[in-house]
Amino acid sequence: MRVDQNACTGDGLCVQLAPSVFEFDVDGLAYVKDEVGELQTAAGAYVPIPLPVVDAVVDAADECPGTCIYVERPDGTLEAGGPLS
Ligand code: SF4
Repeated sequence: MRVDQNACTGDGLCVQLAPSVFEFDVDGLAYVKDEVGELQTAAGAYVPIPLPVVDAVVDAADECPGTCIYVERPDGTLEAGGPLS
């Protein structure tokens, strides 16, 4: 999954729903965290979704006001989020 920070509104819904994988950086936009909780501050950084939070991430992607959370299958096609939401 990844976040397109260019479209992020900074409302924080994703951080509320799945705080183990989403966090704000100092710019007030949401970024993803890797499997050890390290914030990935590169724009559009991709991380795999830990199984225990798949449902929360899909909910966040579905409800993201910026439609900027992309949940992708291994082949790169969209599973949830992005322009599907
Ligand atoms: S829910 Fe979407 S728009 Fe809101 S902070 Fe998260 S990534 Fe940004």
